[in-house]
Amino acid sequence: MTEKMTSQLAIELEDKYGAHNYHPLPVVLSKGEGALVWDVEGKEYFDFLSAYSAVNQGHCHPKIINALIDQAKTLTLTSRAFYNDALGVYEKFITDFFGYDKVLPMNTGAEGDETALKLCRKWAYDKKGIAENQAKIIVCENNFHGRTITVISMSTDPDSRGGFGPYTPGFVTIPYNDLAALETALEDPNIAGFLVEPIQGEAGVFVPDEGYLKKAYEMCKAKNVLFIADEVQTGIARTGRLIACEHEGVRPDILILGKALSGGVYPVSAVLADDEVMLCIKPGQHGSTFGGNPVAARVAIAALEVVKEENLAERAEHLGKIFRTEMSKLISECQLVAHVRGKGLLNAIIVNDSPESHTAWNLCVKMAESGVLAKPTHGNIIRFAPPLVISEDQLHEAISRIRKVFLEYKM
Ligand code: PLP
Repeated sequence: MTEKMTSQLAIELEDKYGAHNYHPLPVVLSKGEGALVWDVEGKEYFDFLSAYSAVNQGHCHPKIINALIDQAKTLTLTSRAFYNDALGVYEKFITDFFGYDKVLPMNTGAEGDETALKLCRKWAYDKKGIAENQAKIIVCENNFHGRTITVISMSTDPDSRGGFGPYTPGFVTIPYNDLAALETALEDPNIAGFLVEPIQGEAGVFVPDEGYLKKAYEMCKAKNVLFIADEVQTGIARTGRLIACEHEGVRPDILILGKALSGGVYPVSAVLADDEVMLCIKPGQHGSTFGGNPVAARVAIAALEVVKEENLAERAEHLGKIFRTEMSKLISECQLVAHVRGKGLLNAIIVNDSPESHTAWNLCVKMAESGVLAKPTHGNIIRFAPPLVISEDQLHEAISRIRKVFLEYKM
């Protein structure tokens, strides 16, 4: 292409040649480093989305990029038809890191969820003794687990689900954060698992009541039901702990990770479980051409080492408190903010306007103009999730820009 790249040209190209399955803010990024990104014209922004919490370690972290380059120059893909010399090292590393017997490597979050569902069903038939094709899995209203047919079959969001039927059967939907509903659903002897996000990220950073996860876990145990945590968005230090379930001392039977498992450098997801569950799947019953490839293995080790070496969980916990304290002041200072909620550096502001209004979108456009990138979810909720490597000074600078936009916004 000889034409000089501009934001306008990039947007026109995507619009003309790409499927219209996203509605991005009109910002065209061409470079990133740490908590900062730059657009094609060189304007600098704080990234407060972090690719939906995939870039927890910051953009282009040198250690992760070096692992990528080094392995990419040596061996990229063997498929699982053969062994490779990086996968076993990674499997040992990640199972030690999270404290499980085994890992099943995949690529995307949705694949991780699909894998967990298959594992749970297989365990139900092989170990729990549920009759063939009768296993059911409890899921929560307003969940988000990705975009595949089975995953959207669990969804209650009309945008995700509508128009894509027929749907995969075998799911029982209950309200989130509702232990009584869980107790009732668990009465069914064909229940094999309970799939839950420790905080519902896409739904708008909905944090359940304290004690919900712990009690839900205990109730599952009492009924020999697998507690499956989708930590694709909440995991890898985002909420102030390595995984969000740690806040309540819960160790999921099946743990699903993705996104920041690679520092946003490469599609890497993983499902962790102990032998009793993981060994239910036998050769040929599940897999992926790219899952567990040497580049993914090396990148994920580097990404997890960064989390430890740079104390990202502790940083998220500390910086998150500052963010919520400062943002909560807006509730009394301006009528635009109804509520501030979150944990660690996964936070949201609920805009005091209807989901159908464009207020949250307009605020995000104004924030982008002032150099802070965030995106509305479900109309009137704005999620704020910067890379966990953001410095305290950078955070304060971003906070003051966000506050200014809210305080000066005219409805
Ligand atoms: N699960 C959760 C909790 C998520 O937030 C997401 C993505 O936002 C997914 C699964 C799907 O991940 P992916 O887009 O990598 O398939």
